[in-house]
Amino acid sequence: MSLEITFLGTGAAFPSPARGASALVLRREGQCWLFDCGEGTQTQLMRSHLRAGRITKIFITHLHGDHIFGLPGLLCTLSLQSSPDSSSKAPLDIFGPLGLRSFLQRSLELSHSQLLFPYAVHELVPTPDQCPPQEFRDFSGWDSGDGSPGRVLCLAPGEDSYLLLEDEQVEVRAFRLFHRVPSFGFVLEEKLRPGRLNVQKLKDLGVQPGPLYGKLKSGTEIVLESGAVISPQDVLEPPVPGRKVCVLGDCSAPLGDTALRLCRGADLLVHEATLGDRDSPGDTDTRDSDTGDTRDNDVTQLRRQAEAVLDGQQVILAEDFMTIEIPLKKGQLTTEIPLKK
Ligand SMILES: [Zn+2]
Repeated sequence: MSLEITFLGTGAAFPSPARGASALVLRREGQCWLFDCGEGTQTQLMRSHLRAGRITKIFITHLHGDHIFGLPGLLCTLSLQSSPDSSSKAPLDIFGPLGLRSFLQRSLELSHSQLLFPYAVHELVPTPDQCPPQEFRDFSGWDSGDGSPGRVLCLAPGEDSYLLLEDEQVEVRAFRLFHRVPSFGFVLEEKLRPGRLNVQKLKDLGVQPGPLYGKLKSGTEIVLESGAVISPQDVLEPPVPGRKVCVLGDCSAPLGDTALRLCRGADLLVHEATLGDRDSPGDTDTRDSDTGDTRDNDVTQLRRQAEAVLDGQQVILAEDFMTIEIPLKKGQLTTEIPLKK
């Protein structure tokens, strides 16, 4: 089962011809999940090997424009390309901070745009400590109450993360980050999957391919005509560990130790790095000097800084249209992540 990430925009708030505003796609099981949707994401999708029509879920890390200004346009294009029976399809799920529903509703309403497919906005309610006090805005009263579907997700008592999705194969959670506006990280974690049947062993035991294989695979013991009992652990290989991918929104720090706990052991963690240590936002002399604009020309300093704090772990500088595959595990952690362009 393939799992890969393709970067569509790595220029954040400083897009250029070579780097679009923030967006990436995680592809798994034939579905595309879009993380952030900066301006121009729809044309970046067209230039990539991905199909926008395959997007079934969208995750927005925070409400800064370089992460959301492409969303109304993308949705309108998807609507123009949708089939006449789209209204009966499952809604497109969009997850993001409180205020996202209002942004979308107002953008679509003011531009007289009507989407031909259903969508649901699931809003995460941030806590005031996710940004400087003067930046915190309460958007809870902004909802126009048009009855469109979607949940409002608050932190559950005793929990420090938001459960967004869970099925038999995968779980997706959001966790809080500190930024100039409330920002979130997302972690997708596959569940442990049963190991493969040892077919040779089954043959040796006289079990023929058929329904009995399915029973064993599902964890049920079987009794042969001879009276012999075979339990799943006799013929199943060790379970396969799931993969874990983390996508962090802009942040200067995580909140509490939850992010660390959730991201521990990740196969891939995507971290924004628009500005290096030499390029603090107030330091325009450095940013504009001929020492180089790190955002395009000297990104290697970002790698050095990341490597310095990551204690020898592999660091990859993302580029637009770079795809990273996360291979299936075989009971052990992979050490190198393959790239394909
Ligand atoms: Zn931001």
